[in-house]
Amino acid sequence: MTAPNETKTHTGPAPAANFLRNTIERDLEAHAYATRHWGGGPGDAAHHAAGPLDVAKIRTRFPPEPNGYLHIGHAKSICLNFGLARDFGGVCHMRFDDTNPEKEEQEYVDSILDAVHWLGFDWVQNGEDHLFYASNYFDFMYRAAETLIERGHAYVDQQSAEEMRATRGTLTEPGTNSPWRDRPVEENLRLFREMRDGKHAEGSMILRAKVDMASPNINLRDPAIYRIRFAEHHNTGNTWCIYPMYTFAHPIEDALERITHSICTLEFEDQRPFYDWLLERLTEGGLLAHPLPHQYEFARLNLTYIITSKRKLKQLVDEKHVEGWDDPRLPTLVGMRRRGYTPESLQLLAERTGASKSNSWIDYSVLEGCLREDLEGKTERAMAALDPLKLKLTNWDEVVGAGKVEPCVAPAHPHHPEFGERHFNLTPEIWIEREDFEEVPPKGFRRLYPPQNGQPGNMARLKYGYVIECTGFEKDAEGKVAAVLARIVPDTKSGTPGADSVKVKGVITWVSASEGLAVEARLYDRLFTEAQPDAGGRDFLEALNPNSRRVITAWVEPGLAAAKPDEKFQFERHGYFVADRVDSQAGKPVFNLAVGLKDSWAK
Ligand code: ATP
Ligand code: MG
Repeated sequence: MTAPNETKTHTGPAPAANFLRNTIERDLEAHAYATRHWGGGPGDAAHHAAGPLDVAKIRTRFPPEPNGYLHIGHAKSICLNFGLARDFGGVCHMRFDDTNPEKEEQEYVDSILDAVHWLGFDWVQNGEDHLFYASNYFDFMYRAAETLIERGHAYVDQQSAEEMRATRGTLTEPGTNSPWRDRPVEENLRLFREMRDGKHAEGSMILRAKVDMASPNINLRDPAIYRIRFAEHHNTGNTWCIYPMYTFAHPIEDALERITHSICTLEFEDQRPFYDWLLERLTEGGLLAHPLPHQYEFARLNLTYIITSKRKLKQLVDEKHVEGWDDPRLPTLVGMRRRGYTPESLQLLAERTGASKSNSWIDYSVLEGCLREDLEGKTERAMAALDPLKLKLTNWDEVVGAGKVEPCVAPAHPHHPEFGERHFNLTPEIWIEREDFEEVPPKGFRRLYPPQNGQPGNMARLKYGYVIECTGFEKDAEGKVAAVLARIVPDTKSGTPGADSVKVKGVITWVSASEGLAVEARLYDRLFTEAQPDAGGRDFLEALNPNSRRVITAWVEPGLAAAKPDEKFQFERHGYFVADRVDSQAGKPVFNLAVGLKDSWAK
């Protein structure tokens, strides 16, 4: 495999080349799967033969191990598998690959199901529920193992793990046969049954497929297929003390479910020959029938500035570098959802990155671009002051009237009148963005600055309100600007006749000081400062961005008091924010920065 830093990085929308689509199209044209029967649920050859022709044109599956939270890479796999099934009149199975007794937990099962639903997919299709657990196939797997033994394709090996490693050979040298390789079928059967009955200790013997110790593909050198493990399983309890190995279990799971296209990542390419070997041997034994599932490998999704290793994510959570699995900076789906990512934005990423046979890195900005693209046409706008500075309108009483407020109207979305209008009041004191005032303006500054060198102060428009002219400012004891003073230019209210008679170059956003809402806003940035935080064995903790989370009090339009958890807004000129789904309370939302309006990391 190519090292990550030797592969190319995509920065723009990647071409959506997808060899899987082409493969499926070709298979459908050739009617490769048209004669398949479906027994209404997983089962062996006889079970399916008794059922009608399969109405699903293809069958794919998403097969996570329930041993952790899903991340953006899994989203890619979900979108691919469920998306291909949807697009080609097929069905995608939701399968928990829970054959490993020790690691699985219900908490993960629930969160995985929730994530798949959230992404917009469902395993109930054609009126059938396609939620499956691989551990329900243990009986069949056992039977398959006995069939292999009976047909001379498997044997019980009593070499130690060390001996097996030593006799396995290398990439350049063939392996050597185990002294137990040619033991008679009856002896193999007896020993395997004794293994099942708990008569032998863990590690004392193992069942191996009898393929070819001289194969150039090490995966074909008599791979282990069943091992002894005295462990309780969350589904089957203590029924079994032998468990199938992944390389044996996975092809069988696919075959029992009559999967047509078994899609996995490139690391499994070398296992495909055994996948095919095993299913052919079981078909000869009458347990399975053609057409058999076929495995296809695609390049996993690699995104810069994140890590997806379960172990490292766990370390970030356990050592409290982040605030839990759903920390909005993590690439877990629970974290990304909390950050404001939408199912559509992740589907877009999956679409854009296609499916290819060679590894590459996708720049994080591509993901952010997908979110912006999705949110732009969907989210209502709102004004917010993130770094608030008070502005006092000194001629309020003369222009508007003492004790009065000035109602303002703004479109909820500039291009979608059907979204309706926002209503809020201009009041004598407002919050503006600190950067919209300069005591001594740099060249070309178009926003507010006080009278200079005998010239009057600058004029700018308060968005949806009046043109104002800066007349001065106040400082606090430390010499920091505490308030800007300005006068309203009469007859310039937005939307009134003649409002444009006074031309100004700057428009500034604002929030009423007396009617606006003070909210907690969490400004998130990338969790790592390095594009490949864990490349080359480096300690990824050293690449943590110390400024990945900043909590501020922002002022926002009063209407945002009604923001519901998960509701997203574009804070004009700042970016997209989401009401935090965990910490928001009725009338008191907490906002997370989902993504800025433009890529601030681009050169
Ligand atoms: P583990 O290291 O524990 O095996 P995993 O990420 O492979 O973790 P699984 O639960 O085995 O987790 O993965 C479920 C499915 O998601 C698999 O089919 C796997 O190929 C796919 N998948 C995982 N990571 C990615 C990724 N980065 N890009 C695309 N698909 C992925
Ligand atoms: Mg895996």
